[in-house]
Amino acid sequence: MPIPSAFQDHHKRLIGCRVCPDVQPPPVTGFTPGAAIYLLGQAPGPREQAAGLPFVGPAGRNLFKWFASIGVEESCFRSRVHMGAVIRCFPGKTPGKQGDRRPSPLEISCCASYLETEFGLLRPRLVIPVGKMAIDRLLPAKILDDAVGRVFQLDLDGHRFDAIPLPHPSGLNRWIQKDPGKSLLGEGLQLIAAHPVWQQVFGQDPTTPPPR
Ligand code: SF4
Repeated sequence: MPIPSAFQDHHKRLIGCRVCPDVQPPPVTGFTPGAAIYLLGQAPGPREQAAGLPFVGPAGRNLFKWFASIGVEESCFRSRVHMGAVIRCFPGKTPGKQGDRRPSPLEISCCASYLETEFGLLRPRLVIPVGKMAIDRLLPAKILDDAVGRVFQLDLDGHRFDAIPLPHPSGLNRWIQKDPGKSLLGEGLQLIAAHPVWQQVFGQDPTTPPPR
């Protein structure tokens, strides 16, 4: 299927973006024109930056294990779901610590236009925010216990969609290792598997082309 020119223009603008002085480009996004499902991550890490693909590190392996548990393998998922993030460049490490730096409000605000453009181009009917920062982008002030394991009907600039949040799949995330997080994660995955858009996109046979 030919890639619409508006999507090509957006891709070119995003990949060339160097607005934020403290992040490490290039920007990373899993481009899937025509996708009805949008996965919203937090920010790429160093592995994603090197590979130019979202969720390729250990956290990504966990994430794709979760989706495999509801019947969809990684390659199939990547070919049918658009994968964006709150910010698209690796923010770098937190000075003196192991973890990645949390993006600043200014960086999040600078990167917001790419998310808005993709929502406008794709009009996704199911959005899966992954991790607290991504959940906050759509559902401010929700703690994980109140966000994961539920479906939210949202309206963003007149575009209505369902959001089913998931926690961050990092092995360091203790919230998913014990209840209530462990059970809520399972409930969230079951809600995704049962959602009509997921069923329409992946259907009974994940090798058939996605309907749109
Ligand atoms: S984080 Fe977003 S706004 Fe900042 S340079 Fe990267 S793509 Fe551009």
